[in-house]
Amino acid sequence: MTDKGIMTGKVYLVGAGPGDPGLLTLRAAELIAGADVVALDALVSPGIAASIPSTAEVVYVGKRASAHTLPQDQINALLVQRAKEGKRVVRLKGGDPFVFGRGGEEAEELVAAGVPFEIVPGISSSIAGPAYAGIPVTHRDFATSVTLVTGHESDGSTGVDWEALAKMHGTIVFMMGLANLPLIARKLQEHGVPAERKIAVISRATTTEQRTVTGTLADIEARAAGVPTPALIVVGEVVSLHDKINWFETRPLFGRRIVVTRAREQASGLKLLLEESGASVIEFPTVEIAPPTSFDSLDQVVQAVSEYQWLIFTSTNGVKAFFERLAMAGKDARALARVGIAAVGDSTAADLAAHGITPDLVPEKFLSSALLPLLEQDQRGIRTAVIRAEDGREELIQELRRRGGQVDLAVAYRTCPVAGDPAQLAGADAVTFTSASTVDNFFHALGDTALNGTRLASIGPTTSEAIRKHGRAPDVEAESASVAALRDAVVRVL
Ligand code: SAH
Repeated sequence: MTDKGIMTGKVYLVGAGPGDPGLLTLRAAELIAGADVVALDALVSPGIAASIPSTAEVVYVGKRASAHTLPQDQINALLVQRAKEGKRVVRLKGGDPFVFGRGGEEAEELVAAGVPFEIVPGISSSIAGPAYAGIPVTHRDFATSVTLVTGHESDGSTGVDWEALAKMHGTIVFMMGLANLPLIARKLQEHGVPAERKIAVISRATTTEQRTVTGTLADIEARAAGVPTPALIVVGEVVSLHDKINWFETRPLFGRRIVVTRAREQASGLKLLLEESGASVIEFPTVEIAPPTSFDSLDQVVQAVSEYQWLIFTSTNGVKAFFERLAMAGKDARALARVGIAAVGDSTAADLAAHGITPDLVPEKFLSSALLPLLEQDQRGIRTAVIRAEDGREELIQELRRRGGQVDLAVAYRTCPVAGDPAQLAGADAVTFTSASTVDNFFHALGDTALNGTRLASIGPTTSEAIRKHGRAPDVEAESASVAALRDAVVRVL
């Protein structure tokens, strides 16, 4: 993503939003993806930092002096220098760059240095933080204005017009003010704001560590003791809506740490669902999906696909590989027009649907043998292909053959064990398992007693059985074989 033909570099002053990576703007994401240099604020969330391409030079720009951070004047000099070298420089700032972000000063310097630049506004924590705390900064019944104020006033004597603030009857949002909370509460009261005026402290807003404490000017200091930064202070009657609208911190898995052991390629659906329920997800893949040792058996089935009475798909990986090979053979879904299709698992069925195919059979249990009662007892003259992993279960194939059927195995992929760093799992509330192989690899890598006391959630009977084989008991099993049902199971058990 480079502007071809433009030789000079450019500096982009970009707002990274308040913390939740989902609140990054499309423009910001696009610029990060194409950046040569990214200068990062301490407030930028790790989730966003992780999206910086490995080819980009990353410069850490912290407020506090440390070995890895640069002071403000050196940051500016560096941005100018890199832009003059022709680089695309993204200066990422927490929230919005022009809301207490020194973006104005940096833009002025860029003007002075003659470096082209662009400003990309971000979602400011001053608005988003209250929103995630269920506090609308304006409301027709409570506040006709909102004022953003710096709370960074060590002696309280400079700048802030307390008298005017006290008279406004609107909402006041203090930023950088947590250390001065007692002073803020006192100053407002000294200028005539009643002691019972509502006030909230919103810490680490929009992240999985968000915490909102509410009170009055008189008692907030005691209530908010020990709350960590960064934090916003919101003063005004709108704070009374927190109890009613509080939607973020009340989600069922809020603040819980849930481990997803699925292969990275497959983790996103479950991860998203858990995150929507408020969980903070630890990705700990125990398997990796790899191509099979040979595609021969799958390619043979693809070649002769219209000659089968049944195709049985036992996983989403199988669906993916099958359609890839089908396309490579110059065919498409029409080749399956007269073939019966069975799918094990709702996600497998959903992936088939994405290819325009509604499976004829989907057993209730996420278990390939659960298909057996649904298929013809007499299999003579019936040709079936089972599309599955190299190391899958044999039961289904054996039983169909016993009934006289002709069954071909199409090996579509392989699962290979991988192991992450067990330290990542510290503090986990639950571990989710979506297949027997993830269970086996997990306990093989970590030992059967790993995470004793942590809840184990299984997607279905085969997976639960694998957990029992390791001498452990699943705490909960999904009611159907889907990631949504697994998420619901986790909610039930926590
Ligand atoms: N430009 C940023 C603000 C930078 S000043 C923005 O628009 O959000 C830094 C202050 O912002 C912090 O002291 C704190 O008051 C507030 N802040 C930033 N991110 C926050 C978060 N996730 N939760 C609570 N406050 C936050």
